[in-house]
Amino acid sequence: MEEEDMQYGILRFEEPKRNTSRKIIHIDMDAFYASVEIRENPSLKNKPVIIARHPRETGGRGVVATASYEARKFGIHSAMSSQKAYELCPQGIFIPANFDLYREVSRQMHAIFHRYTDKIQPLSLDEAYLDVTDNLINQKSGTIIAQNIQRDIYKELQLTCSAGVSYNKFIAKLASDYKKPKGITVIPPDKAQAFLFSLPIEKFHGVGAKSVEKMHALNIFSGEDLYNKTELELVESFGKMGHSLYRKVRGIDDSEVINDREPKSIGKESTFLENLTTENEVIQSLRVLSRKVMANLKKKEKHGKTVVLKIRYEDFQTYTRRRTFQDYIKDEDQLFQIALSIWEEESMDLGVRLLGITVTSLESVIYETIPLPLWKKSEDERNKIEHEDKT
Ligand SMILES: [Mg+2]
Repeated sequence: MEEEDMQYGILRFEEPKRNTSRKIIHIDMDAFYASVEIRENPSLKNKPVIIARHPRETGGRGVVATASYEARKFGIHSAMSSQKAYELCPQGIFIPANFDLYREVSRQMHAIFHRYTDKIQPLSLDEAYLDVTDNLINQKSGTIIAQNIQRDIYKELQLTCSAGVSYNKFIAKLASDYKKPKGITVIPPDKAQAFLFSLPIEKFHGVGAKSVEKMHALNIFSGEDLYNKTELELVESFGKMGHSLYRKVRGIDDSEVINDREPKSIGKESTFLENLTTENEVIQSLRVLSRKVMANLKKKEKHGKTVVLKIRYEDFQTYTRRRTFQDYIKDEDQLFQIALSIWEEESMDLGVRLLGITVTSLESVIYETIPLPLWKKSEDERNKIEHEDKT
């Protein structure tokens, strides 16, 4: 930081200060909904996939949620009317959005993020900021963490994402958008000003279409043009946003990564020092994991209907199998039975290196909707009565 402050030493006297001590990653999935659909149905690969109901079925109403990169070549983009998309690409494959599925995949992404940091701020199902200044793997390099996340997401979810790495949220988000798909863009403090200068003003997120028009009228086309306006000029034209633009174009954004404290899933994994080679060892381990997961769910007052079993074999092939139930999973034994039933569909040809159980799609336990405590109590009382009867 010192060297760079020298570089802008003249300005520094009157400029607001930059805090460059944080490491922030912005992750953005590539064509998320479309990519998930293509993953689920590989025959869609390399085809123009448009996530929207076909305008034929909607009388021309409806908008595009996402389009695959092939569809984008026809000029199709999200928020476009599906009628327009159809006109641009009549051979496009229209698929109605399946948000339950996307939410589920998003939870899996977040489970991956949580391996590295608990300071995560989701912006949507497919985008999040991560503060990795202090992280769970004691890795000093934000770049390496971003690469790990990209790798994990690709290996485990068969999806790609783009990452931006910098010292604040504003630049990290611009960076993730810089090279897409599968990109990683790192903007260290000493490259930030040049990066911001070079960007077309349309790219500054938070600057809407109306403001862009206004900027162009003021001869602001790039970050550099914006930088050359005084704070007063910007405030006169853009009000409160003028202050923040003045700071952002100078690489200043101290906004925190605001934790989403509500856990979407609770899970536990065990990696074994020696691979498990017998069914019995696996069953024992599933029992222990079920107990720990259920204890954690109770502590956080959450419950869920979906169980995910993760298995990594000695050859490092990793599988996740899930099962969703009609009702909330109520206790450790039920969780164990479910995990076991998923496991029973696996063959044990290879040693097991890792097992994990996760309960996802969590909801808060609300007193009225959960008869469990009452039911439990009555059962306990019943036992007690039975016991008393015997004595
Ligand atoms: Mg995205």
